[in-house]
Amino acid sequence: MGRRKKIVQECERLMDTPENIRNIAIAAHVDHGKTTLSDNLLAGAGMISEGTAGEQLAMDTKEDEQERGITIDAANVSMTHEYEDTNHLINLIDTPGHVDFGGDVTRAMRAVDGALVVVDAVEGAMPQTETVLRQALREGVKPTLFINKVDRLISELQEGEEEMQERLLGVIADVNELIRGMIEEMDDINDDWTVSVEDGTVGFGSALYKWGVSMPSMQRTGISFEDIIELERNDKRDELHERSPLSDVVLDMVCEHFPNPVDAQPRRVPRIWRGDAESELAEDMRLVNEDGDVVFMVTDISMDPHAGEIATGRVFSGTLEKGQDLYVSGTAGKNRIQSVGLFMGSEREEVERVPAGNIASVTGLRDAIAGSTVSSVEMTPFESIEHISEPVITKS
Ligand code: GDP
Repeated sequence: MGRRKKIVQECERLMDTPENIRNIAIAAHVDHGKTTLSDNLLAGAGMISEGTAGEQLAMDTKEDEQERGITIDAANVSMTHEYEDTNHLINLIDTPGHVDFGGDVTRAMRAVDGALVVVDAVEGAMPQTETVLRQALREGVKPTLFINKVDRLISELQEGEEEMQERLLGVIADVNELIRGMIEEMDDINDDWTVSVEDGTVGFGSALYKWGVSMPSMQRTGISFEDIIELERNDKRDELHERSPLSDVVLDMVCEHFPNPVDAQPRRVPRIWRGDAESELAEDMRLVNEDGDVVFMVTDISMDPHAGEIATGRVFSGTLEKGQDLYVSGTAGKNRIQSVGLFMGSEREEVERVPAGNIASVTGLRDAIAGSTVSSVEMTPFESIEHISEPVITKS
């Protein structure tokens, strides 16, 4: 069996244990390194070869995107990662980084429970960093932070240990100020969602050279700031990558700090759905009940040359299977599911079924649009996804 098939099989096995699932988005200001980081994660999970991560740009599926070097549509990938002796299923949604595509970012946030926000160490928090954080928090999605391009602080700006630490703490403080301000406006998030090095909710490193660290990873590997500076300065980046691979650090952070669907859905459902909170359907969604009625929220529609229109989104309750006749909000009649699948980079893999708590891609929902609620019983649709407009900026 090919490596890819094995990964798909393992994903299918893990889909039934929501406690071990993490649905995440990576979001960033344009050029801060979201695509390069995503490729590292794919390579780390064995989805693309190590050597091509950073060059392959697997998440940029359209020719047009590759030509323009920006990601237009959210692309999705499911991968597995072993953390504390338990294999986890990580469903990653890539979000567009360009200023024109704010709506897509918000839609992607509806499908996930955690957002890894990437910030360039040299540029710091930028207007779109604020926008993506707001989009995440409004959807009840927990943030963590990855400070990227730290290699530039060392090799280009020739910063020493103290200077570098000061700069990184400055970026963290700026991001936390944004988070604090936004959380204050919300009454249903009581947890402290600011990020910190000590808690392990901040990672930093270089997506380009594929190394990364966090406080827990530094304790585990014994690598110090001094080591990092020395190895980076002496062009020993391969050694740095081997001693502290970025994908392990980030995926460990994802498993440790992002909520699983069972923890996230009870908090997220009341925020995005105004139906009867006492109903069985509400209970099924809160409990991520794979045996309940099907509730699927479509967050993206894409075209596949073979399969046709593909609707991607989050299964909040029940289990999606081929042949089901489902209601599509805002339209009369039902649509029949033709196939159910998972995204593995730019390709889709058909599977038998996708249960609650996962991200699925299905064909056959010809009446669905991004934002549709698709269900086996007639129900109050999810709240429409609010577009947060971007501050107008020009790329320098
Ligand atoms: P996106 O727009 O956020 O997806 O950013 P990309 O991943 O496309 O990266 C934008 C540019 O920054 C590309 O030229 C990358 O090679 C470069 N880049 C990404 N990560 C790093 C890094 O860690 N260090 C350095 N020096 N450059 C990086």
